[in-house]
Amino acid sequence: ATPTSIMVGTGRGAELGVLFRKGEALQRLKDANVVAVDKTGTLTEGRPALTDLEVAAGFERRQVLAMVAAAESRSEHPIARAIVEAAEQEGSALPAVTGFDSVTGMGVRATVDGARVEVGADRYMRSLGLDVEMFGQTAEGLGRAARSPLYAAIDGRLAAILAVADPVKSATPAAIAALHSLGLKVAMITGDNERTARAIAASLGIDEVIAEVLPEGKVQAIARLRAEHGPVAFVGDGINDAPALAEADVGLAIGTGTDVAMEAADVVLMSGSLQGVPNAIALSKATIGNIR
Ligand code: ADP
Ligand code: MG
Repeated sequence: ATPTSIMVGTGRGAELGVLFRKGEALQRLKDANVVAVDKTGTLTEGRPALTDLEVAAGFERRQVLAMVAAAESRSEHPIARAIVEAAEQEGSALPAVTGFDSVTGMGVRATVDGARVEVGADRYMRSLGLDVEMFGQTAEGLGRAARSPLYAAIDGRLAAILAVADPVKSATPAAIAALHSLGLKVAMITGDNERTARAIAASLGIDEVIAEVLPEGKVQAIARLRAEHGPVAFVGDGINDAPALAEADVGLAIGTGTDVAMEAADVVLMSGSLQGVPNAIALSKATIGNIR
C-alpha cells in the first residue's frame, strides 16, 4: 500500500469512528482469519445483576446476602457491584469488614463480623477444599440460562450459590453476523464459567469458546488461535485485556473501555460499538486491496 492510500484509509476510519493508532494496523487487519473477543464489557454490557441466591441448609438467605455483600463492598469487580446493589435493594445494613483480599481470577475473601467469608468461582471453592457438588443441578441450570454461578463460603462451610447475568449489548449480534459475512471466524475468550460462556456463544453464533481463562491466560489463548487459524485480531476493553491486545496481530480496544486497553491497542473504536470491528476490517480490505 502507498503512504497515500494509508492516509486516505486512516482518514476514512476517523469518519467512521475507527482510530488507527498505527498505519500498519490498517494494512494487517485485512489478513486476519479470526477475531477473538473478550466477553465481559465487550460482547456484554459489563454491568451484571444478581439474579439468583440459594442457601445451603442451616443458612439464612438475608444474612448470607448481607455478609457476602459486605465482603464484596471492598472489591472493584463488576460482580461485586451487582451483589452490593442487591443487598442495598433489600435494605440490608452491611456488617463490618475487618480484613479483605481479592484473589485474581478467583474471587474475594474477607473477615465479616468476625466470620471468614469467601466468594467466587467454583475453582476458588475447590482450591479451598470445598465440594460444590451439592449445588450441581442448580449450577447446570444457571449455566444453560447464560447466568454465571458463584459460590459463598462462611467459616469454611459452603453457604450459598449465587448467579449474575450480564446482558448482551444490542450491537453485538449484527457485528458478529458482519464478521461472518467477511469470512472470519469469531472466538470468545473469557474468565467466566465454561457452560455460561458456551450458552452465550451459542446464542450469538460464535464459532469457538475459550473459557475459565485466568487473566494471564489470554495471551496464550491468542497464541493458540494463531497456531490453529493464522493471524488474529483481538477485541477487548479491560485492564486485563492489555497483554492480549499487544500479543494479537491487531489489537482493537473499545473506546468506552479502560485507558490501559486503549494504550495497548493498535485500533480504538471510538463509537464504543463492536460494529467498529467489521467496519475496520472492511475498510482495510477496501483501502489496501484497491490501491496497490
Ligand atoms: P471475568 O470477569 O472476565 O470473568 P476475571 O478474571 O475478573 O474475569 O474473573 C474470573 C472469575 O472469577 C469470574 O468470572 C468470577 O467467577 C470470579 N470472580 C472474580 N472476581 C470476583 C468477585 N469480586 N466476586 C466474585 N467472583 C469473582
Ligand atoms: Mg472485559
